[in-house]
Amino acid sequence: MKFGGSSVGTTVALTQVLSIVLHEHRQRDHLVLIVSALDGVTDMLLEAAHLAQMNNQRGYRRIAATLRTRHLALVEQLPLVAQERTVLQADIDLLLFEMLDLCQNVASTPSESLSPDISDKIVAAGERLSARIIAALLRHKELRGVAIDGTDIIVTDNVHGNANPDLTLTNQRVQQHLAPLLERDIIPVVTGFIGTSLQGKTTTLGRGGSDYTASILSVCLNAQELWIWSDVDGMMTTDPREIETAQVIEELSYNEVAELAYFGARILHARMIKPLRERNIPLRIKNVYKPQQGGTLIHRSGQDTTRRIKAVTSIQGIGLSAERSGSLVNITRFVDETLALNTGNHADVMISSQSSARSFLCFIVPPSVGMDAVDTLKSAIRARLAEYREFADWQVHLLSIITIVGENLDEMPEVMGQIFSALRGIRIVGLAQGPSRCNLSVIVEPDDAEQALRYIHTMIV
Ligand code: ASP
Ligand code: MG
Repeated sequence: MKFGGSSVGTTVALTQVLSIVLHEHRQRDHLVLIVSALDGVTDMLLEAAHLAQMNNQRGYRRIAATLRTRHLALVEQLPLVAQERTVLQADIDLLLFEMLDLCQNVASTPSESLSPDISDKIVAAGERLSARIIAALLRHKELRGVAIDGTDIIVTDNVHGNANPDLTLTNQRVQQHLAPLLERDIIPVVTGFIGTSLQGKTTTLGRGGSDYTASILSVCLNAQELWIWSDVDGMMTTDPREIETAQVIEELSYNEVAELAYFGARILHARMIKPLRERNIPLRIKNVYKPQQGGTLIHRSGQDTTRRIKAVTSIQGIGLSAERSGSLVNITRFVDETLALNTGNHADVMISSQSSARSFLCFIVPPSVGMDAVDTLKSAIRARLAEYREFADWQVHLLSIITIVGENLDEMPEVMGQIFSALRGIRIVGLAQGPSRCNLSVIVEPDDAEQALRYIHTMIV
């Protein structure tokens, strides 16, 4: 079971976690917990690293002090015996002292940019703190909770900030360090998100990476199921902040959930599904505050024979168009290079198409880049005109990508027909039917996005 930041941030949330663990412990032979840092803590640690780089000592010290107060206050409120509390307080001080020390080093080394391995080391404090607190909480209830650092078991490549676990090496460590604990009825409380590179440096698996840790450990331990606990009821038919009638989806296939994650449902880490799918391990998403509710179950497709769509999402895209036709390879490369140079993100091309007299490309805007991507591209085109005259007439504009998800959508022309009639009156700028056979993306003007989402959502609920 993995508990996200929103489910471990407060005493109320932790009381829920404890009662869930007590309940499940009675039902199952073995239990492993994977935990995130408390809500908002990773953001604060990243901010501290950033401030250290700017040599803003007051700034990162203030963050360390706030984190200390917050964790100590939590420990103060939890039901713990005096000795556990004293040990935890010392752990909190030690971890935050180390973090402060790292920031101090960064601040006193004037270098051009903060090295990503130091940044990873600084942010790793968040999960280390929460795992220790939760393990102590379990021990108070006579459960044998032991905090385990992901750095001791998750072996990754050296892509700091977005590392990928090496399954073979990680599995060896899991069998060595984690599996024996289960035989002794210990409940390991593993820090999510963090690992160690082959070079022995701390790495992180990308934002929301605790999901990925949980997925990798499920595979190594051949788990019966993986449950992800957070403060939402499950995967939703659409974004509930935009459409009030959004509902929980009871069942999804791995394919469907992977497409949903790719096209904007931000609940799950994008790379966590693949390992589970390969080993056919069911995944459940549940709300810590409503444990009796089923949430969403994600498993192999085939059980569900209803021919229908499951969800619809909306994300931002960038369109590029020019009044001529010809090879789109150069402009694609140009956009990719520009985005990579200015934002560190590569462009995911959704569509490239042309007619006798026009060319059109549509990219998914990386969420970390947001609205600035259009301006970035426009000025990049302007700046490189001398080199690339052929791009002078390319228009760059923001678009919305509405994606409809449902297994075997490509075999359901009748459903596609309904989708298009639902979109009556809305201009369709482009269309892409996904290669995964379970998604259809309709590209519309940003002003039409909400209406399109609403129309299609009425087909689901
Ligand atoms: N704490 C990390 C983050 O906020 C990892 C996670 O929550 O899954 O991204
Ligand atoms: Mg998360």
